[in-house]
Amino acid sequence: MNKLKLIKNQTLSKSTTLKIGGKAKFFCRPRSLNEIIHCINFAKVNKLQVFFIGGGSNLLVSDNGINGLVINTCRLNKIKVNYDEIIIESGTTIEKLNKIAIKKKLTGLEFSSGLPGTIGGAVYMNARAYGGEFSKIVEEVEVLNYNGELKILRKNDFKYSYKKSVFMNDDLFIYRIKLKLKKGEPKEIRSKYKENYIDRKKKRQYKYPSAGCIFKNNYDLNLICGKLLDEMGLKGTNFGGATIPDFHANFIINSKKAKADDVKNLIEYIENKVFKEKGIKLDREIKLIGFTDHST
Ligand SMILES: Cc1cc2nc3c(=O)[nH]c(=O)nc-3n(C[C@H](O)[C@H](O)[C@H](O)COP(=O)(O)OP(=O)(O)OC[C@H]3O[C@@H](n4cnc5c(N)ncnc54)[C@H](O)[C@@H]3O)c2cc1C
Repeated sequence: MNKLKLIKNQTLSKSTTLKIGGKAKFFCRPRSLNEIIHCINFAKVNKLQVFFIGGGSNLLVSDNGINGLVINTCRLNKIKVNYDEIIIESGTTIEKLNKIAIKKKLTGLEFSSGLPGTIGGAVYMNARAYGGEFSKIVEEVEVLNYNGELKILRKNDFKYSYKKSVFMNDDLFIYRIKLKLKKGEPKEIRSKYKENYIDRKKKRQYKYPSAGCIFKNNYDLNLICGKLLDEMGLKGTNFGGATIPDFHANFIINSKKAKADDVKNLIEYIENKVFKEKGIKLDREIKLIGFTDHST
């Protein structure tokens, strides 16, 4: 625990896939539950707000940075496999998780092939792709609250729905997750991973820094955001260095050293235009942190 380094004024642009973000007043990468508790106590004593970052693949961090303590989970990455269950620390990347699942001949995670970020972020977001989503395979989640109390949440506690979870409402740190999978046929598992990964690459998702889709679909309204924004002719729109690319109208890419404000202004421009022209209020998927105007 003594080795835990609290870094002052750490630039966050390297911790997000958009490659944007100002400095965190305090920043750390804890390696254990004890170190996490130590961080949270430090924040409490110093009256600092705490922010958790996994892979930073669904985040827009303000240019002014974060006046608080940012806890990056990347060193919490232990995995244990018990037959068809995987017990995994929240900072483990989806890439590493997928490799273990393949090695252990476990099926159920193929939908997440090529998904950027960590299992903590995916469980928080209820990430989904290719007909699958995390809500279907998460069995238990060990969470830590602001008072340093650890408890286990089970299926009925998660309140999962489309891109929503209980973790968004409560101030909970996701420490460890138990996933329930099934034993499968290695050849079929590998081929599904490959198929999904190739599809993402073909769609050019990794070509530029981005945070994936900016807005959620609205299945009640039969609204697929990418399709709507494409039909409205928004591809190619740019603010400063932030652009809606030609390959996906629901993405914003950092095309030319964009500022966080460029991205935020473009998001607000899209929201206003869609509301004015279609009467639809878009729901953001991307999380904005460090902005002071409470428009996040
Ligand atoms: C190219 C690209 C493609 C993408 N494709 C998809 C897709 O197909 N489907 C999809 O659903 N998403 C997609 N995304 C978005 C993103 O990858 C997912 O939402 C991912 O699950 C986020 O994980 P993360 O670790 O990067 O989370 P972060 O961006 O680091 O954090 C997201 C939120 O989770 C919280 N969080 C993270 N870890 C913890 C923790 N341990 N405890 C408590 N809170 C935590 C953060 O505070 C934040 O509010 C894509 C993104 C990119 C860049």
